Amino acid sequence: MRLVTFNCRGHQSIGKVIGQQVIDLPASDASLPRTMRELLQAGPAAMARARAVDASVGVSYPLADVRLDAPVPNPSKYLAIGMNYRKHVAEAIAAGIKVPDSQVWFNKQVSCVHGPYEPVQMPRASDKLDYEAELGVIIGRRCRHVSVEDAPSVVAGYVVCNDVSVRDWQMRSPTMMLGKSFNTHGPFGPWIVTADEVPDPHALQLRMKLNGEVRQEISTGEMIYDIWAQIAYLSTVMTLEPGDVLATGTPSGVGVGMTPPSFVKVGDVMRVEIDGIGHIESVVVAEPAGG
Ligand code: MG
Repeated sequence: MRLVTFNCRGHQSIGKVIGQQVIDLPASDASLPRTMRELLQAGPAAMARARAVDASVGVSYPLADVRLDAPVPNPSKYLAIGMNYRKHVAEAIAAGIKVPDSQVWFNKQVSCVHGPYEPVQMPRASDKLDYEAELGVIIGRRCRHVSVEDAPSVVAGYVVCNDVSVRDWQMRSPTMMLGKSFNTHGPFGPWIVTADEVPDPHALQLRMKLNGEVRQEISTGEMIYDIWAQIAYLSTVMTLEPGDVLATGTPSGVGVGMTPPSFVKVGDVMRVEIDGIGHIESVVVAEPAGG
């Protein structure tokens, strides 16, 4: 299934996309929850009911007539791993970042979560705006101390992420958090492709295009720490909740790694594509008065 959170004429709901139609799940089956987090929390029985909604009799809208929001608009956590592709590590070293010998995690504050096709803001506080194309993992059930072997069972599905970064603010604190958390800098989507439809999440081709020019391209099989190792490591520390978002790292080709560095400007279009998942696309706009 391709699960979406969508907004139609000011009304937000969750749905599944079939072809060019969005089937409104709670409007088609009143037993289904109204938000993605609640649907994931409700577990396999609810997911089976969502699958069973018959597109021919359900309440549906043309995909073109709705606005897609982030599939999980209000995750409890949005965590991202840094320096998880070898060539990107080389870029980071060149940019003056010390690379430790364990997984490097940081927070994107959940207030940065943003729709897959909504404009991304150039902050008033910086012109060092950059992109990071990444495969995103959506957690499907509450879990702690998950083994590498069991990790696939806690994944609801996959999304396309742009870990939008403000490089000068990123370097101001060792946790990187401030430069990763500006408002609008967490676009992801356009939908959650459920894990049953992604036979191998480590064999997906990922690419980032800036104004149509390919800047990043790699197979997710090139990750240093794979998705299962990431979930095992994080869940050693904390409980992961349904709807939590993990961004699994970006490959080489970011603007800060170019010689000279090449940052994103107002009017640029950032597009991230993952074959078999979908794409997200954001035009860069100036931060409006009032933020
Ligand atoms: Mg990143």
